[in-house]
Amino acid sequence: MIYLDNNATTQIHPEVLTAMQPWLGEKYGNPSSTHRLGQESRQAVEQARYEVAAMLGCHISEVIFTSVGTEADNAAILGSLAARPGKKTIITSTVEHSAVREPLMALANTGYTIIEIPVDGCGQLNIAALEEHLPNPDAALLTIMWANNETGVMFDIQAIGTLAVKHHVPFHTDAVQAAGKIPVAFASLPVDLLSVSAHKFHGPKGIGALLVKRRNPWQPLLRGGPQERERRGGTENVPAIVGMGAAARCAAANLASPEYTHHIAMLRDRLEKGILSRVPDTAVNGDPLHRVANTTNISFTGLEAQAVLMLLSQHDICVSAGAACSSGSLEPSHVLRAMHLAEPRAHGAVRFSLSAFNTAAEVDRVIDMIPQFISRLRDVLPAGNSRP
Ligand code: PLP
Repeated sequence: MIYLDNNATTQIHPEVLTAMQPWLGEKYGNPSSTHRLGQESRQAVEQARYEVAAMLGCHISEVIFTSVGTEADNAAILGSLAARPGKKTIITSTVEHSAVREPLMALANTGYTIIEIPVDGCGQLNIAALEEHLPNPDAALLTIMWANNETGVMFDIQAIGTLAVKHHVPFHTDAVQAAGKIPVAFASLPVDLLSVSAHKFHGPKGIGALLVKRRNPWQPLLRGGPQERERRGGTENVPAIVGMGAAARCAAANLASPEYTHHIAMLRDRLEKGILSRVPDTAVNGDPLHRVANTTNISFTGLEAQAVLMLLSQHDICVSAGAACSSGSLEPSHVLRAMHLAEPRAHGAVRFSLSAFNTAAEVDRVIDMIPQFISRLRDVLPAGNSRP
């Protein structure tokens, strides 16, 4: 199995698994209990909070554990609006993940105005359009992702946040695809709220965090207990939180060494160059200069990405067409549509996303296999008629 779908989810790091094990077994105390078993769990949760804060460069009091990245995004948006009941406009981009898009769509049906800032053909945000819309006394929130899950394109969060500060609009960034891939220093960023998810950086699924700057007005999404300093009710998922802490510790140590990112970028570039040089009618989608190191989105123009995906899967190569949640649908994703790619290019877009667990030998095997697969598909499925 060659796993090149790390933007969908990542393999759990062996250290993470080891750290979690006792908390799935004999250490089952509730962190809210005052006896010894409970207090051991409390200490484990607080140690994990410290590790997550260290990875993301924030104060421990700014970390709120959530069930997933999706919950962190929902809590960022709904909690910001609840703290500013008089304001009814939200500014966002056209390429957000559904964890942001869908709550915004629901809010549009309840009287909120959603302003979507467009991107260019490379998937970069139109900063001039943002500058035009930000001076808005009705703006309750600006929510713009850091790194795109489909193309890997990174927005200039520093520049966007500086504009948000200038116009006094609170700023949330969905950093689910950035955390673990680039260093994050929340304390010095002009960002008020930031979402992350552990399973994107070799932690377990079902655990995320929302960072909320101290003094930023915000209301909890889940009420029902004093947990997380009354900002997220519900008994803590101790094994997952411990796993997230261990994953954060590993990610911070990895990112501190330049070779780590360099190695992943080298594998990604080798894969990209290998495919582009051997397969005709291919193109990379997204700004090649501002991308996370692990991602390349390549169009096999004229083919249907789903057909490519299925053939690769039959040969134990895991990749993705657009967002994981949109695979199965033959509509090009909203991200590729927002970039105004020509239809045959958008339909043939395949996402390859690597991790440090991949090897040069795996990349070379994929480069060797793909040309035959693509020419076979192009022979049996003539251009424009490649729907599986
Ligand atoms: N935001 C982005 C950019 C993502 O890529 C994802 C997951 O793919 C999410 C949010 C949702 O994270 P989770 O799967 O933890 O709910």
